Amino acid sequence: MAEDDLKSYWPGTVLKSGGSRLFRLVFLALLSLTAVAGAEVIKMEAKTGDRFEVKARKIQPGEPLILTWVEKKSDLATVDFLGRHYELKANSGQPVFLPLGLDLGVKPGRQILEIALWSGYRQSDQINLEIDILARDFPKKKLTVDPKYVHPPSEVQERIKREAEILDQIYNQTSPEWLAKNKFELPCDGRLSPNFGQQRIYNNVPRSVHAGVDMAIASGQPIKAANHGRVVLASNLYFSGNTVIIDHGLGLFTVYCHLSKLLVKRGVKADRGQVIGLAGSTGLSTGPHLHWAAKINQARVDPLALLEIEF
Ligand SMILES: [Zn+2]
Repeated sequence: MAEDDLKSYWPGTVLKSGGSRLFRLVFLALLSLTAVAGAEVIKMEAKTGDRFEVKARKIQPGEPLILTWVEKKSDLATVDFLGRHYELKANSGQPVFLPLGLDLGVKPGRQILEIALWSGYRQSDQINLEIDILARDFPKKKLTVDPKYVHPPSEVQERIKREAEILDQIYNQTSPEWLAKNKFELPCDGRLSPNFGQQRIYNNVPRSVHAGVDMAIASGQPIKAANHGRVVLASNLYFSGNTVIIDHGLGLFTVYCHLSKLLVKRGVKADRGQVIGLAGSTGLSTGPHLHWAAKINQARVDPLALLEIEF
């Protein structure tokens, strides 16, 4: 798909084969991103004068990385990272940046972030950034819940499957424009459990990893959008109960679960701070709380990390 887009953007150019008649000079800049405590900012400069920056809170599973094309000299930058392909066009007027996610389940070790720069019909430079993903220990927790959530009855299996497909479709269709602005904010004032990544053992059965954070909040309290975006789901799901998903653009989504009431409809715009629903305990939940999650191009990331990034 991405490769087809690229071919139509650069007609007649064979990108990955050595048979191209066009002369391509590829400079390789190998840079290493070493993880230390505190926020990371890595600056890179290509031979073309294009400059990039990678910002991250930590280089670990469940963390977002923000790639920004700071100084644009080429027409197009293509980015390959963790099996996904992205295109950044220099003429978009907007600041050009790309949120990238290190999924909660990503294997620690070295990964390469490849940036290729294109001008006219030729690749003018390439930057390979070595990213060393550090291991991270996630806590475990035992919980007792209604057995229907650990072993869903056969009559709801179809529903669960359908909902998983809908969610997959939603996360694969994002606004090509960045809809959020500046900083993300907490969606409510509830007491926060930093339980992102916790391994859940339900009724002694190890189940999925907890891909969000929980905030204890009384039923009926307002839940607000963490930033501007478009509501792409506002409905009742088996596991997450009444759920709102907001698309902030460029593959970044925030998710609000277990609401007692939905106050927005799918398709509408939501502004940061706008009340989108009321807190509750619907779906797989042991008491009133907000489960807040974030995804970047399908990667499950800690939503609290978004609060520390200036977009
Ligand atoms: Zn939760």
